[in-house]
Amino acid sequence: MGYRPFVFRLAHELSVAGWVRNAVGDVEILAAGPGTTLDAFAEGLVSRAPPLAEPRLDSMTPVEASPPSGFAILASTADVEPSIHVPPDFFACDDCLRELADPDDRRFGYPFINCTQCGPRYTLIRALPYDRPNTSMAGFELCAACRAEYEDPMDRRFHAEPVACPACGPDLTWTVKGSPMTLSGAGALEACIDAIRAGRLVAVKGIGGYHLVCDASQDRPVSRLRRLKPRPHKPLAIMVGRSAGDPLAQLRAFASPSRIETERLLAPERPIVLMRKAVDADGLSELIAPGLGEIGVMLPYSPLHELLIRGLGHPIVATSGNISGEPVLTDSEPVEERLGHIVEGYLHHDRPIVRPADDPVYRSIAGRMRPIRYGRGSAPVELDLPFALEEPVAALGGHMKNTVCLAWGRRCVMSPHIGDMGAARSLDVFEAVLADLQALYDVQASRFVCDAHPGYATTRWAKSQSLPVTRVFHHRAHASAAAFEAGLDGPMLVFTWDGVGFGEDGRLWGGETFYGVPGAWRHVARMRPFVLPGGEAASRQPWRSAAALAWSLDCVWPCPEDVHGVVRQAWQRRINSPETTAVGRLFDAAAALAGVCRVASFEGQGPMLLEALADRPADEPPLQITLASDGVLEWDWSRLVSLMKAADHPLTERSGRFHDALAATIREVCRRIDQPFSAVALCGGVFQNRRLAERVIDLLEADGITPFLPARLPVNDAAISFGQIVEFAQGGGEAQNR
Ligand SMILES: [Zn+2]
Ligand SMILES: [Zn+2]
Repeated sequence: MGYRPFVFRLAHELSVAGWVRNAVGDVEILAAGPGTTLDAFAEGLVSRAPPLAEPRLDSMTPVEASPPSGFAILASTADVEPSIHVPPDFFACDDCLRELADPDDRRFGYPFINCTQCGPRYTLIRALPYDRPNTSMAGFELCAACRAEYEDPMDRRFHAEPVACPACGPDLTWTVKGSPMTLSGAGALEACIDAIRAGRLVAVKGIGGYHLVCDASQDRPVSRLRRLKPRPHKPLAIMVGRSAGDPLAQLRAFASPSRIETERLLAPERPIVLMRKAVDADGLSELIAPGLGEIGVMLPYSPLHELLIRGLGHPIVATSGNISGEPVLTDSEPVEERLGHIVEGYLHHDRPIVRPADDPVYRSIAGRMRPIRYGRGSAPVELDLPFALEEPVAALGGHMKNTVCLAWGRRCVMSPHIGDMGAARSLDVFEAVLADLQALYDVQASRFVCDAHPGYATTRWAKSQSLPVTRVFHHRAHASAAAFEAGLDGPMLVFTWDGVGFGEDGRLWGGETFYGVPGAWRHVARMRPFVLPGGEAASRQPWRSAAALAWSLDCVWPCPEDVHGVVRQAWQRRINSPETTAVGRLFDAAAALAGVCRVASFEGQGPMLLEALADRPADEPPLQITLASDGVLEWDWSRLVSLMKAADHPLTERSGRFHDALAATIREVCRRIDQPFSAVALCGGVFQNRRLAERVIDLLEADGITPFLPARLPVNDAAISFGQIVEFAQGGGEAQNR
C-alpha cells in the first residue's frame, strides 16, 4: 500500500542509503548509515507508515555489504518465499476525492481515479507480485503524464498500479435496452443519473460486480426490482452520500446509527451496515425493507459511486446484480443476458473485474459489529492458525451463503461470499474461486474437506475430484469455528442453532449443543425433534413447520395451504418428512403460528419479522428439559405453540416471550451441564438475531458464565469452510474411502 515509496521518502529524509524491494508479500530493505540514524529509520518504518500499510518489522539483521550510494526502489523479486498477502479493494481516499471535485485537476470527474492509498486491488489482481502487468489494468497503456507520476518516487501515485486518467484509463459506456445509441465519458454518467432520476432501474458496474440501482425515494423502480428479480420482500441495501460538515447528514433523515455503526460505515472496508430505521424514514420508499425495523446502508466507496450519488443528490438502492442467491455478475454480456428483463439501462465500464466480490455486511449485536458477510473491501480474509497443517487443504463449506477456505502451514485464507450452491452458475464461480485462491497464493491443496451432507453440490463436487476427501458434520464445523475464534483453553459449551444441516443420526440438525474442544465435541443437548414435511424444502414454507408442530400436539390450526390434506398424510406416513431439531424451523413455525409469515420469499424472513416485532426482554421461564435415552438433554418447544397461537395477546408480547423462553432455555441447559467449561459460545445463523443473542448474553453473564459470540468470522454458514479446516486439523471429520 504505497509502502515502498514511503520507505524511499523516509530514507531520503534521514539520508539513509540502500534499497527497498517487494519480495512477494514481504518488503526487504537494505539500509546503511550511522547507528542512531538506522534506529530512527527502523522506528519510522512502522510509526510513520501510510495508514493502509499497517506494517510490522519482522526482523532486522546486520549484513556485510559494500556501502551503497543513494537509495533505490528495486524491481520486485519473483523468487518465491511465499508469504503472499493479497490486498483488498480500498475506498476512494480524501486526496483523490479532492482531485475528483477540482475542475482544474486533470482527473476532475474521472470515475477511475486512484492512488497508492486507494482503489481496487483484490478484484483486479490476476497474479502476484502485485505489479501493473499482473492486473486487469495491463491493457491500458499509461499516457506520458500518468507515467511520469507512476515513475516519480516523490509522487503520491508512484507505483500506484491501477493509476489512470481520462486520457489513458478505463471509460464508462451507457446503453439503453433496445437502443443502438451508446454514450461514453461524462455523458454516460449524466445519462445514467437522468435515468435514475426518471425512475428507471439501471445496472451499474462497480468494483466487485454489478449493482442494480434505482432512486431510493421512488416506489416505481423499487417495486419493479422486487417484482422482476424476483425479490418480493428481502431488504434492499441503500447507498447514501456523505455531506460536507457532518458526513452522515443525508443518512440522518431516515436512520440514527450508533457510534460503532458510524465507525463501521466510515471504515476503509465501506461495508453495508444494518441499522435501525427512523420511525418516519423521510425520503425513502416504504418498499425498501417492508416490515423490518432496520435498513442496510453503505457509503459510496468508489469514485464512480461518489459521482453517481453527488449527481443525483439523494440515496440510491444498490443491490447485487445477480439472480437471487447466485454470485454477483461481473461482465457486461451475462448482465444484459440475465438481467435484461429487469434493467432499463446499463452503465458499463471497460476495466475488467477479475473476480467477483459482493458488498460486505455487518450488524451490531451486544455492543460489537459482527460480520454477516465478507466481500469487496474485506476479501480475502487472511487468518493465522494456532496449529500447523501437514498438507495444504481446501475446505469447500456448506450450501447456503457459501465460502471456501484454503489453508496451509499456519495460514488460512477465506474467500468472499460466493452464494447459495443450488444454481449451476454458483458451482462455476465456486470452482473458479477455489482455483483462483490456489493460484494467487501459489499453494495447491492435496485434500478437500467438505460437509457430510451427501446431497450438497460441494460434497458431490469433492467426490468427483481425484484428491482425498474428509467430511465434517455441519454443526461440528460451526462449533470449531467459534471455538477457534474464542481462543480459550479447556472445554467449551457451544450452542449451534441454525436452519438445517445434515446430522449424525440422520436428522436435520440445527438446535444442538456441544461440549468439548475442536476435534472432540460431545453432543450434549438438542431441541426436541419434530417431523418436518418436505424436509429442507420447508425453509420457504414456514406453514409446514407450524403445521407439523400443531399436528404433533394434536391441536387445531387451520392450514389452507394443505388443500387436500396431502402434506398431512405425507407427514403421518413419514414420506419425505425427516425429523429435524433445527431452531431455524422453530422460528419459522412461530412466525407462521402467529400469522406473521406463512410463506417466505427468502430464508429467514419469518424469524426476521418476529425479531422486529419482539418487545422488551422480560422474565420468562425456560422450556421443559428432559434427559433423552441417548443421554442428550432435550428441550421441548410444546409450550411455544400455544403461546404463538394465542391471538388474544399482542404480537409484540408473544414474539418477545418466544425469544425470552429460548434465551432462558439456553441458560438452563448451561446450568444442567455438570462438567466445567471455560465459556459458552453461540453460533449458527439463528444468533444473527440480536434480540435473542443479547438476551442470552445478559442471562449468562448474570449467572457468572462467559458468553462468546463471534465477531471476526460470520456466525452463519459463511464460517463453515473455516470450521471444517479447524475440525479437520484437530483430528475431527471422517476420511472417505474412494
Ligand atoms: Zn487515492
Ligand atoms: Zn493517463
